[in-house]
Amino acid sequence: MSVVGIDLGFQSCYVAVARAGGIETVANEYSDRCTPACISFGPKNRSIGAAAKSQVISNAKNTVQSFKRFHGRAFSDPFVQAEKESLAYELVQLPTGSTGIKAMYMEEERNFTIEQVTGMLLTKLKETAENALKKPVVDCVVSVPCFYTDAERRSVMDATQIAGLNCLRLINETTAVALAYGIYKQDLPAFEEKPRNVVFVDMGHSAYQVSVCAFNKGKLKVLATAFDTTLGGRKFDEVLVEYFCEEFGKKYKLDIKSKIRALLRLYQECERLKKLMSANASDLPMNIECFMNDIDVSGTMNRSKFLEMCEGLLARVEPPLRSVLEQARLKKEDIHAVEIVGGTTRIPAVKEKISKFFGKEVSTTLNADEAVARGCALQCAILSPAFKVREFSITDLIPYPISLRWNSPEEALSDCEVFPKNHPAPFSKVLTFYRKEPFTLEAYYSSPKELPYPDPAIAHFLVQKVTPQTDGSSSKVKVKVRINIHGIFSVSSASLVEVHKFDENEEPMETDQHAKEEEKMQVDEEQQKAEEQQQTQPENKAESEEMETCQADSKDKKVDQPPQAKKAKVKTTTVDLPIENQLVWQIGKDMLNLFIENEGKMIMQDKLEKERNDAKNAVEEYVYEMRDKLCSVYEKFVSEDNSFTLKLEDTENWLYEDGEDQPKQIYIDKLAELKTLGQPIQARFQESEERPKAFEDLGKQIQQYMKAVHAFKAKDELYEHLDEADVAKVEKSTNEAMEWMNNNLNLQNKRSLTLDPVIKAKDIQSKAKELASICNPIVNKPKPKVELPKEEQKPTEANGPLDGQGDTGSGTQPPEQGSAPTATDKKLPEMDID
Ligand code: ATP
Ligand code: MG
Repeated sequence: MSVVGIDLGFQSCYVAVARAGGIETVANEYSDRCTPACISFGPKNRSIGAAAKSQVISNAKNTVQSFKRFHGRAFSDPFVQAEKESLAYELVQLPTGSTGIKAMYMEEERNFTIEQVTGMLLTKLKETAENALKKPVVDCVVSVPCFYTDAERRSVMDATQIAGLNCLRLINETTAVALAYGIYKQDLPAFEEKPRNVVFVDMGHSAYQVSVCAFNKGKLKVLATAFDTTLGGRKFDEVLVEYFCEEFGKKYKLDIKSKIRALLRLYQECERLKKLMSANASDLPMNIECFMNDIDVSGTMNRSKFLEMCEGLLARVEPPLRSVLEQARLKKEDIHAVEIVGGTTRIPAVKEKISKFFGKEVSTTLNADEAVARGCALQCAILSPAFKVREFSITDLIPYPISLRWNSPEEALSDCEVFPKNHPAPFSKVLTFYRKEPFTLEAYYSSPKELPYPDPAIAHFLVQKVTPQTDGSSSKVKVKVRINIHGIFSVSSASLVEVHKFDENEEPMETDQHAKEEEKMQVDEEQQKAEEQQQTQPENKAESEEMETCQADSKDKKVDQPPQAKKAKVKTTTVDLPIENQLVWQIGKDMLNLFIENEGKMIMQDKLEKERNDAKNAVEEYVYEMRDKLCSVYEKFVSEDNSFTLKLEDTENWLYEDGEDQPKQIYIDKLAELKTLGQPIQARFQESEERPKAFEDLGKQIQQYMKAVHAFKAKDELYEHLDEADVAKVEKSTNEAMEWMNNNLNLQNKRSLTLDPVIKAKDIQSKAKELASICNPIVNKPKPKVELPKEEQKPTEANGPLDGQGDTGSGTQPPEQGSAPTATDKKLPEMDID
């Protein structure tokens, strides 16, 4: 099971994994921990991440970015319509009415859903995690903005499925940050003590989110969240873009907005300038060469002027901060720390606004870019049975109140707020209805004004197969509504409580049975709760709420009492009822399967194209490397006929003409063909590099054996234990080897370097090995041990070890290194050349 956390940012994505050493943010193939949320479509493949980002201008119409916020939105959504104008690529209305992205892919015009596009990005992030972990990745936790509605969350969930991921939890970005903060804190107040309240602020590229969390040992509870869903770095970039469009427009008479490439370049330069201004208060230049119509443009900007222009944006920093405190009923003094993350909190004025509001310095203890991904990985580790993590429970909340609406049997419209704003999540409740036939529950956000989304509808849930009781009266229907671990609402189950009558003579078991059934329901809830409490331990109040069953059908209150209660002669059973969901903007199962299949095909296509490109690059690299070496190190080894040089030139030309776009096999064959010509030259060079050393080693070895033979003949006591016949064998082999070496040296010296050598380095090495195998056992033969008389072996206790008397006895100094091998038992140098 993999433990992976993914921060799916608007501009930048990060992947964190859990390893034995802890949580680690991992780098992609460019050794960068940040992967741009960008996909570029080409005639043969897709590029994702950094490779796509580099095509933003060159392949503007088919390079997709800034798509995070189109999840779960209709094409007609005002947000989508407004965004459409500033995009280089085209948005389209899909048959379902949702937002699609049009691009030329594989030389064909294609419409992709947002889920597919995010799925592509996730494929890349999954691959990054797989490369880091060196194993397949399926399970993960993915972050979403805390203000995402159900439709947006479901859409991201579909994207994870398209990428072949199993998302264990969609976690709110601010909650992931809170987890990354709290889990390592050793000094949190004890369970029963007053919690420590911490505010988390995340201002990224597209949005601004604030949450306030209460921490106790081992747990975190989100108390409130607030947000400005359109305040982020890009708004600050826009301010600069607008300024320079006007300035350059006037100064150089340019209509920048009419040329998307120029506009995109200006955006890139403005973002760069914005970042520079965070670190530098002086005047900074804004120069772009060949900007438009071959004109170079230049201007200046400084921090104070920039801040003046951003006054409106900066004024939007405070309201969400105020809002979280009000919602959580906390005063500024109740806040222990304010932790800031997200790239845009690096703007000094943003930081100042936050610290001024709270009257304290903001903390930057968390990594501003990676905290979300790290929190996601921590959540994944908590959920994973494969990892042991410190106990830590998280209680999140729902940001918008959710109500249910239904038609009562009298056709009157009733509704009920099932989850008020800031209700803990995940959570389940059971509602009771009295009905004779199937009925529909319509879930919706009951405070549309608060919703950063145009449609308050969540879903319709049709509770099917409801029948009246045998006596014709209404049946009791229990409906479980739920906010799941992803923060998504659903009617998760419904059951009909059937009442069976008994006549007076029958065994009176009904109340027990009834109690049992009721109990069963409770048990189900307990199980459900236990499941959820793996992630969260709602506070006591919340727990009692979870067990709460609502009499939702107020109109039916008269049948509230079990109809047979007075007689108490009934037996009840529960029957599960099917529920049909009609979710807003949900992709159908068949469609989702098709997308999964298509993603697989595209991954395969990318892989094949990469292999083809690698094969082409290998030819190109070989041509350049060889051409370079033929003029330098290989020069002496090339024969007069320069067919290889000509072949390389031909291939180079071919690569720019017919060979520019060929199937992989053609490149493989081309490389093999070149190598048949290049290999012998390369080998001759290689041999000439290795040969002198091999001869030298053999020579040294011969010399050493000869020295040993001479020493033996001179009756050196080092060798006096050797057998004469053996020494003669050493002498003979050494002489033979010397002759062999001299012969080959002579022949090779006479041979031209443009021809294959007479002898290869490995043959010389084999000769040395063969010689060693004969001679080493003889010259290295240990000297027999001299037996000392018994008393001498025993050192006398009174005198201790006797100086100068306890040595090995020979008295001979060991030979210098590299001199003739000696035969003393201790000092023999090893002769093996292996
Ligand atoms: P979102 O959270 O909205 O989904 P994101 O997670 O991709 O977006 P971040 O990576 O947190 O966003 O932040 C990116 C933004 O931060 C960009 O607008 C970038 O220009 C801005 N940014 C990064 N560094 C600096 C800096 N030093 N000064 C000013 N802005 C910066
Ligand atoms: Mg972010």
